[in-house]
Amino acid sequence: MITDRDEALRRVRENGVNLRLCSEELRGDREVVFEAVKQKGEALEYASVELRDDPAVVRQALESSIEAFGDASIRLRNDLGFASDAVRLSWEALPYVPLTLRGDLSLIRIASMQDGEALYWAAPSVQDDEDFIMEIVATQPSAAYFMSQRLSSDKRVLRDLLAINWRVLNFFSLRDRGDPGIVKEAVRISPDAMEYASHELRSNSDFMLEMIGIDWKVFEFATEGLRGSFDFVLKAYRTNPKVIRFSTLAVRKRIFGLIAPEELEDRFEHVVSFTGHPSESCQICLTEFYEGENAVAHKTPQGLLHHFHRECLRQAIIADLDRSSYPRCPIDRDPL
Ligand SMILES: [Zn+2]
Ligand SMILES: [Zn+2]
Repeated sequence: MITDRDEALRRVRENGVNLRLCSEELRGDREVVFEAVKQKGEALEYASVELRDDPAVVRQALESSIEAFGDASIRLRNDLGFASDAVRLSWEALPYVPLTLRGDLSLIRIASMQDGEALYWAAPSVQDDEDFIMEIVATQPSAAYFMSQRLSSDKRVLRDLLAINWRVLNFFSLRDRGDPGIVKEAVRISPDAMEYASHELRSNSDFMLEMIGIDWKVFEFATEGLRGSFDFVLKAYRTNPKVIRFSTLAVRKRIFGLIAPEELEDRFEHVVSFTGHPSESCQICLTEFYEGENAVAHKTPQGLLHHFHRECLRQAIIADLDRSSYPRCPIDRDPL
């Protein structure tokens, strides 16, 4: 047991928890305790009852360990202003705040704006407060995971939440993430929401085809089985050719291999018909065109034309597929 004050100061500066080796008198000495909690917040546990009720001492302890809030006096922990300051320092003080205060919206707001998980520690009345949940999920979608059973089983609430922040889908139950109506609603807001849909929906060919009709980008999140299915990709490709970039390489090669030289301009947005003239050459094989030759050109956003023989361009696109997931102009690498 340490009874000498200078020794106590030296020992708690080395390691705050050494406070537990000090005499009862020293554990009630404000300077000794202050030095101890400054070195390690956990030392508050060994401070006298009076000092655990001292706002400055407790604040100092919280600076290095938010869990020290659990060792603050009951009076301080029940003080809304003091508890709010602790939670402002870190939402992780919330589990040590008395449950009666955890029904206070402003306190829970401070905590859940830092991390949606804080809502787990809120009083049931807060977890069931629809307006409050709507407010929090706008920035912290994970809060949706901890809302009340009543709210999470109400499809109207789920739709309203999606409208505020589509990322909440990630925190819905597996059943709701497999609900075609809910997922469709989310995809209308952002195609990236598809990432959070259930595996079952992401592998459902009819559903995915319908979603590709809304936004082709959802195909990125289809299961590998669908992205590697020649039949499915071909069907999806007819809905929107851009889906091809999310298909597997083998499927891309097969599908582009099916494109006839005559239909390049129908297949690719930036490919136009071009009538050859001997003053120009194919920019792939460098052979001059003959007068009136039926060829194609890549029309750049600036309106420039890169001209090619049909077969030259077709083969260049297929050969490029190992390096690019979408068709590119062989001259400027712009998407075709
Ligand atoms: Zn050529
Ligand atoms: Zn080009």
